[in-house]
Amino acid sequence: MKIFTQTQAIQTYLNQYKTLRIGFVPTMGALHNGHLSLIKIAQKCCDLTIVSIFVNPTQFAPHEDLDKYPRTIEADKKLLEENKVDVLFLPTVEEIYPNKEKPNLPALPKFTKILEGEIRPTHFLGVAQVIKRFFDIIKPNDVFFGQKDYQQCLLIDWLIHQFKLPINLHICPIIREPNGIALSSRNQYLNPNEKKSALILNQTLQKIQKLIKKGETDIKKLENFMQKKIESEPLAKVDYATIRNKNDLTKQKLINQESLILIAVKIGTTRLIDNQK
Ligand code: AMP
Repeated sequence: MKIFTQTQAIQTYLNQYKTLRIGFVPTMGALHNGHLSLIKIAQKCCDLTIVSIFVNPTQFAPHEDLDKYPRTIEADKKLLEENKVDVLFLPTVEEIYPNKEKPNLPALPKFTKILEGEIRPTHFLGVAQVIKRFFDIIKPNDVFFGQKDYQQCLLIDWLIHQFKLPINLHICPIIREPNGIALSSRNQYLNPNEKKSALILNQTLQKIQKLIKKGETDIKKLENFMQKKIESEPLAKVDYATIRNKNDLTKQKLINQESLILIAVKIGTTRLIDNQK
């Protein structure tokens, strides 16, 4: 596996491979099987797979977990080697934002102001900045993002269309532990009791799916049910538990083909998100 920390060096390297199909998987490290699933999908469809590990400061608000975000770089490198990743890009903050400059972006779309965007008002601007910069450096043909961060996937889709980039976006399925908890680097923050409480997210999604399959279509009723179910777990505090149109996250009254269930819950001090179509 080639490892690059400098923009110039990775660009020089990639210049040799202009005819190859380049797949790109951006991550913040502390890698788990969710990340590996994206890498496997990338390897199937591309000639060269690039993974980045970069804990992007601009997507964290001052009170958030930038400093304590898990960093396990040696274990990550080993895992990527074992999984035959071609290139690891491991830039410094200065490489990504030279002289603290950020890419120029048009105003972000409305759906970035709600749900995650309401609770984390500067988050999506930071994500758009770092991903635009990565796309400019790497110029990938295909990029791989996890459905777990659904709003992020919509943002990347918007970014690609906005700049008319010749990039295919692959939205990859959520990988879960056998007990249903969606894998996340932030799960490391949970103590054993909190881990048990975290089961409530997926349990709620499953229950709502069952109610929908049985014929319940009233979204107000389903949302009330979700709220109560999550609140029945003493350690859980609901940020949102809602059903939205999956294309733009606008509210709906009745369930239809476009409906998406989204949940964000605080378990102790750890914020977890999950969703299901
Ligand atoms: P992160 O390192 O948390 O920024 O995540 C990097 C990429 O991995 C993002 O596209 C995430 O959506 C994706 N990802 C994170 N957790 C999972 C999961 N459990 N299953 C599938 N993809 C995931």
